[in-house]
Amino acid sequence: MNAFVFPFSEEKAVSKELAGGKGANLAEMTRIGLPVPPGFTISTEACLAFHENNHALPEAIEQQMKQALQDLEETTGKGLGDPEKPLFVSVRSGAVVSMPGMMDTVLNLGMNDDTAEAFAEQTGSARFAYDCYRRFVQMFADVVLGVEMFYFERELEKYREKYGFTADPELQADDWKHLIRVYKEIVEEHHGQPFPQDPAEQLRLAVEAVFQSWYNDRAVFYRRVHHIDHSLGTAVNVQSMVFGNMGDTSGTGVAFTRNPSTGENSLYGEYLVNAQGEDVVAGIRTPNPIQELEQAMPEVFHQFRELSVRLEQHYRDMQDIEFTVEEGTLYLLQTRNGKRTSQAGMKIAVDMVEEKILTKEEALLRIDADQMHQLLHAGIAEEVDQPLLTKGLPASPGAAAGTIVFTADEAAEASQRGESVILVRSETTPDDIHGIIAAEAVLTSRGGMTSHAAVVARGMGKACVCGCSDLHINLEEETLRAGAHTLKKGDMITLDGAGGRVFIGEAERTEPGMSDELQQILTWADERRRLKVRTNADQPVDAAKAVEFGAEGIGLCRTEHMFMEMDRMPIVRNMILADTEAERSEALRQLEPLQRQDFEGLFQEMQGRPVTIRLLDPPLHEFLPDKEALLLSIAEKKWNNYAGGDLAEEEKLLEQLRHLEEENPMLGHRGCRLGMTNPEIYAMQARAVFQAAALSSAEPEIMIPLVGHKEELRRMRKLVEAEAAAVEQAQGVKLVYKIGTMIEVPRAALTADAIAEEADFFSFGTNDLTQTTFGFSRDDAEGKFLSQYVEEEVLPRNPFMQIDEEGVGRLVEEGVRLGRKTKPDLKTGICGEHGGDPASIDFCERAGLDYVSCSPYRVPAARVAAAQAAVRARLREEKATVLR
Ligand code: ADP
Ligand code: MG
Ligand code: MG
Repeated sequence: MNAFVFPFSEEKAVSKELAGGKGANLAEMTRIGLPVPPGFTISTEACLAFHENNHALPEAIEQQMKQALQDLEETTGKGLGDPEKPLFVSVRSGAVVSMPGMMDTVLNLGMNDDTAEAFAEQTGSARFAYDCYRRFVQMFADVVLGVEMFYFERELEKYREKYGFTADPELQADDWKHLIRVYKEIVEEHHGQPFPQDPAEQLRLAVEAVFQSWYNDRAVFYRRVHHIDHSLGTAVNVQSMVFGNMGDTSGTGVAFTRNPSTGENSLYGEYLVNAQGEDVVAGIRTPNPIQELEQAMPEVFHQFRELSVRLEQHYRDMQDIEFTVEEGTLYLLQTRNGKRTSQAGMKIAVDMVEEKILTKEEALLRIDADQMHQLLHAGIAEEVDQPLLTKGLPASPGAAAGTIVFTADEAAEASQRGESVILVRSETTPDDIHGIIAAEAVLTSRGGMTSHAAVVARGMGKACVCGCSDLHINLEEETLRAGAHTLKKGDMITLDGAGGRVFIGEAERTEPGMSDELQQILTWADERRRLKVRTNADQPVDAAKAVEFGAEGIGLCRTEHMFMEMDRMPIVRNMILADTEAERSEALRQLEPLQRQDFEGLFQEMQGRPVTIRLLDPPLHEFLPDKEALLLSIAEKKWNNYAGGDLAEEEKLLEQLRHLEEENPMLGHRGCRLGMTNPEIYAMQARAVFQAAALSSAEPEIMIPLVGHKEELRRMRKLVEAEAAAVEQAQGVKLVYKIGTMIEVPRAALTADAIAEEADFFSFGTNDLTQTTFGFSRDDAEGKFLSQYVEEEVLPRNPFMQIDEEGVGRLVEEGVRLGRKTKPDLKTGICGEHGGDPASIDFCERAGLDYVSCSPYRVPAARVAAAQAAVRARLREEKATVLR
């Protein structure tokens, strides 16, 4: 018989896959001797068994639960439902990875008319006992039975008004008893059955409800977005209750062992005196900073500080701890690796190396390269012109401007329309996730640094200001008021997440710098990585930025961007539309010095670093006017019987446009096919490159795009070499250069051995290679069906964001292998968006490429990702050696 139920005190560690994150964690804390209330975990396998068994607990599992409960009763000396010494438990869900959407924790389970009375006697406070009971009825009805919280709140509100109570603590035992009767009626009315008085029944229902919640919409949605397997299942933790609401020597709180926003090494968090469970995170009462606990309960505070150091040493990471104090005794209810901003992550990793908790490599692996763009986030200057609307807690750094929306749905809709919005709520709940994703930033009037909005925004790297207590939101009128200011939906505001400030209008944002910690991490990364990191840059300013971020060269300079500049467009058009050879040469003659200046600028910025220049790639019609606009203009002129000179010209242009039009431009007359039919264009570009190189003694790498057959490259190579020779002769210099190709159609990868005979280097254009391998045109795919593919898990993810290793990746590997068969020293790299994606960079390491190239702002993250990939490769290697 399989074991499905495990006590926290079990000596042997139960895997996280079985016990879930929370369960494994509670057991581990128990094992290392921390004060954790006893309990047991019902495994993720039980969840799967439950669903296989038609959403009912199999008999064997019920038996094991019974046994575990008996043991718990023995340990605590209490009994579930015992009318003298009642045991109360919490029922907490806990999947392998923590995730929203799962059933909320039920506290105080085991309460019924009898045990509440016993509890009143035991604690000497009937008011307290019946308050616990009514909370339980409310919570259980809401999360287990599905009766909406609203009904209970409405009754409570009515009762308060009727008797003139302003706050809950004013209600006495008899008030709660009365309300409990009303609550039970509500349950019976809306649930169709009386509130279960039998604690064993309560427990069974709660456990089943947790398992059931594994498949609720929110959870399923979250797993889809985060690529979490639906077949993992969730575990349930049943834990004896400790009460933080037993008076002024009790309380509950959440604390991070270090500051999750800055990384500073000091306790950071909040607590509430005389409060239970979720009161802190719910944002209903605004909690006190944890530092004040030192005054209020000095002993507890010191014990807590010691425990947090121990926890950090044990888990070797910053911890996010939930604790409760029951009449002066400290209990830990959960600890986990704390979520943090990228900035904090960096500082914590560096500090932990200094504190000898981590090695440099471990620190490197801790960095979330995907999130590093946060570090290069905007901020807001100390002083700005815009008026300050309000101040709140600096919950998540970054700066964002947008228009006000008040609901998550509105945020989602507005962002669909391409608008930037700020989601303003009194507080957020997991139901608002889609709105937070859509918004630029989040602003709340209630809740602390650990409120839902704060935690989620930090996780997503979005700016957040919360707990703005003077912010009043009027949902009916769709306005907000703070001090003398009233704003309405659609008004612009700017959030300063790091400073907790909110401004009216759009305030100017500042560019961030590289922190000392980031520099340190990058130094460690550079010492370990094998892959070189280059950048994609077409302009000297981009190149300069990239060099500042550590780029070691340009992996892709797209010359078409130079053609698109305003002053060039007319010349480029003349070149394309020329009727005669003479006209075309004239246009090219005009373009040549401009191109040369472009390259001079780039070479100057790059100071001898390699620069890969791709000759013209896109179909020519991309440089021409829009056909539909032209058609309209012609039609209008004809309608008005206009027959002037430009009508004839426009008609001629239309004729030419029709001529250049393609059925499928992505697969049409582009790339080296342009060079084959119009060699004069490539010749001009090559000349411009070599002339510029001669001036600055740069060593350019000329890249021929979209080669599919060796012969294409052979001919283009000859053409480029001829230009080089001409420049050498004219200027009396010796040029050093390379000629290579992009590998971006499957045929090129499959015949890379032949192509390598003509190539000095390969650059995998994985964007086009993905298009041509899947047969997707990216714009059509992303616009029409790709998101559905990902949602319905036809594809695990968007292959344009993260390289598809099975298909596209295989072609890359094949290309490298075949290319090196011909030329063992062939230089290989990747350019395009994949070059900045950490997972794709890891693939590039494994595929043995020499470099990746990405946009300037991605360069730091790519350096770190490349180092992580190298470290992981080394660890794999070591493991393999040990096994051998
Ligand atoms: P979440 O995953 O939402 O944090 P938890 O299961 O950790 O849910 O619990 C929610 C709240 O209830 C937390 O504040 C936690 O500290 C509190 N809580 C859970 N179990 C107990 C218990 N046995 N005694 C007292 N408080 C508890
Ligand atoms: Mg928790
Ligand atoms: Mg391409």
